[in-house]
Amino acid sequence: MYVCRKCKEEIKVLGKFVRCTKCGSRVLYKKRQSVAKEVSSD
Ligand SMILES: [Zn+2]
Repeated sequence: MYVCRKCKEEIKVLGKFVRCTKCGSRVLYKKRQSVAKEVSSD
């Protein structure tokens, strides 16, 4: 489970692409990690 850094939407990872389904942002962090990790597929 990831959380969007922009809109805080929770995102389930359904495949290789990790992307916010709400705002389209690819800047996410793992929900259960205390240290934010940016994920970019660009
Ligand atoms: Zn978002």
